[in-house]
Parts: sequence; C-alpha cells; structure tokens
Amino acid sequence: MTSIAELIARRAVEQNRIRALMTAQRAGERAKLKIGPEHVAWVKEEMCIGCDQCTIVCDDDAIEVYPVKMKSPIIEVDVNKKAKIVRDPCSGCGLCVLSCPTDAIVMIDR
Ligand code: SF4
Ligand code: SF4
Repeated sequence: MTSIAELIARRAVEQNRIRALMTAQRAGERAKLKIGPEHVAWVKEEMCIGCDQCTIVCDDDAIEVYPVKMKSPIIEVDVNKKAKIVRDPCSGCGLCVLSCPTDAIVMIDR
C-alpha cells in the first residue's frame, strides 16, 4: 500500500512537472505578444468575468474595475464587475494578458 510520504513525494513531482509545462507555455505565449510602449492592453468586455487577476499583476495602476449590472434578471449578486485599461499609464508590458484566465485581454497598437 502507498504510504503518505510516497503520496507527498509523488505530488511534489507532479507539481514540478505541471509548473514546468505551464512556464514553457507562458513563455511561448509571451514571445508572441505585442509588447512595448507602442502597444497598449485592451479588455474585451464580453469575456471579462471581473476576477481581478489583471489588477494584481499590473505594476502601473493601469487597470480599473467598474461595476456592471447582470444581464440575466434571474441572477442576483451584490457586485458584478469588469476591468478596463487606463491607456496613459499602461506601459504595454503584457503581464495582464498572461494573467487573464478567460483570455479577455489583448495587446493592440497604441
Ligand atoms: S500591459 Fe502591463 S501596464 Fe498595461 S495594463 Fe497590462 S499589466 Fe498594466
Ligand atoms: S483577469 Fe481577465 S477576466 Fe479577470 S478581471 Fe482582468 S480582464 Fe477580467
């Protein structure tokens, strides 16, 4: 029978494998991004779920979240929100694109 120690060791190996895979994938995505001062981030509002991940990674305070009403009248929540980019402070670093779980952010020409 597998011991707890063996399970913990297996879990650590799996975690490292997944981390390495995700890092490699993100590196590939980042290489394809249009980044730099001549570019700016843009949020596709319909894809944003208001999770706040992008605001956490943005060092330039270039992302604001604003409240929106739910589209469905049968769902009631206290807060439903979307992110939007403030163009001037956005340095075009692209970090928010990589952080977004729904691929709601794209880099566009400034
Ligand atoms: S591209 Fe960089 S600076 Fe611009 S909003 Fe995203 S994280 Fe912030
Ligand atoms: S990370 Fe993506 S889904 Fe989450 S608030 Fe930002 S733009 Fe919206």
